[in-house]
Amino acid sequence: MKKKLIIIAVLLFVMSNIMFNFASCSEAKTLTAEVLPVKGGRSGIVTIVHDDGDLPSARFMLKEFEEKGLCGTFAMIADKVVSKDGVPTANAAEWQSIVRTGYFDIANHTQSHTWYGFGDEGESGTYIKKDGTVIEYEYEPGHMTDEIVGAAERMREIFSDQKILCYVIPGFTNAQGYEGRTPEAIKIIEDNFISQRNTGGAGDFDGTKVDCLNNISDIDFSSLNCMMVNASDDYRTRWFEYVDNIIEYQGWGIYCFHNIWETEVPSGHNVAQSKASELFEYIADKSDSGELWCATLTEGTLYTKEYNNASLDMTVSGKQIELTLKDRLNDEIYDMPLTVRVDVFKNWDKAVFEYDGKTETVNVRIAEDGSRYILVDMVPDRGTAVIKEG
Ligand SMILES: [Zn+2]
Repeated sequence: MKKKLIIIAVLLFVMSNIMFNFASCSEAKTLTAEVLPVKGGRSGIVTIVHDDGDLPSARFMLKEFEEKGLCGTFAMIADKVVSKDGVPTANAAEWQSIVRTGYFDIANHTQSHTWYGFGDEGESGTYIKKDGTVIEYEYEPGHMTDEIVGAAERMREIFSDQKILCYVIPGFTNAQGYEGRTPEAIKIIEDNFISQRNTGGAGDFDGTKVDCLNNISDIDFSSLNCMMVNASDDYRTRWFEYVDNIIEYQGWGIYCFHNIWETEVPSGHNVAQSKASELFEYIADKSDSGELWCATLTEGTLYTKEYNNASLDMTVSGKQIELTLKDRLNDEIYDMPLTVRVDVFKNWDKAVFEYDGKTETVNVRIAEDGSRYILVDMVPDRGTAVIKEG
C-alpha cells in the first residue's frame, strides 16, 4: 500500500513537471519585449527651451525648476557668453554657475543670431531688419562655418560639461528675397549637430495634424516642431492644451520661451513670470503623476533617435531571458538608456537583470490583464542582457 502511494506520488510529481514544462514552453512563446517610445513608459515627452540667453529669465527658470523638479534647455546665442575671439563675457560666470546646477543643457543658437550668408565662400550683400534698417554685410570665407560650428566650439570651452549637440534655428532676417536655410547651411548643421529645432510646425498622427507636436515614431530631426509662446496667447488654453495633447497623442512637445518678465507683457514673444509659473506647475503635476517625461532637448533627441533606430532581439531558454538591443548610431554620442518592457514568467515576483557589467534586482509589475513584466534601462550596443528570476 505504501509502495503504491509512493509510485502515485512519483507519477504525479513527474506529470506535474511535464505539465509545468508544457505550460512554461507555451508561455515562453508568448513572452515579448519592446523598446518603449518614452523613458519609463510615460505617455509623452515635454521639453522647455529658452531661446537667445536672457540672464534674468534664466535666474527665474532655475528657481522654478528647483522648486518643481523640472529641467530645460538654453538655446544660447554664443555672443551672450563668449565673443567670436573666444573672450568670455561679463555674464559668463553666472551662466556657468546656472548650467552647473544640472537643471539645464545648452543648445547652439549661432554666434550672433544674424544672417550668416548663402554659403561659406565669402560674400557681400544687404538685408533689411524688421525695423526697416538696411544692413550691408561683407563676410570673409568661413563666416558661415564660424557662426554655426565655431560658436558651439567656443561655448564648449565656457560650459566644459556640455556637449552642445543640438541646434536651434535662429529666426534672423535673411538676405533680401530669401527665406530660410540654404542647402550649404543645412549641410554644415547636419554634419555637426544631431537635431535642429524650428519655430513652429505640426506633427501628423495618423492623418491628424497636431499643432507644434512631434510624432515620436516619425520625427523630422532637421526641423523639430515647437510651440512658441506669446504674450497675447489665451495661455491657459493654448499652453495647457499642449501638455494635454502631448499626453493624448503620446508625442514630444517642445515649448519655446523667449524672455520671461517679472511684470505683465503686452505683446510679442516675451511673457510674464506668473503665467510661465502656472504652466511649469501644470507640467510638474503631469510629470509627478508619471504621465510626462520632462527632458532637455539633448535627452529628447538622443532618446527618440535611438528609439527610431533600435532593434531588439529576445531569446528565452528555460527560465532565462536574453535581450540584445542595438541601434545603428554612433555610440560615442548615442549613449542614452532606452526603457525596455520585458514580459516575465507568471510566478516571478522579482527579476535579476544583468547588463553592461552591472547586476540589479527589479520588481515585477503586473499588467491589467494579469501578465507580468519588468521595465529595464538599456544603453544600446552594450552586449547581451540576462534576466533571471530574483
Ligand atoms: Zn532666437
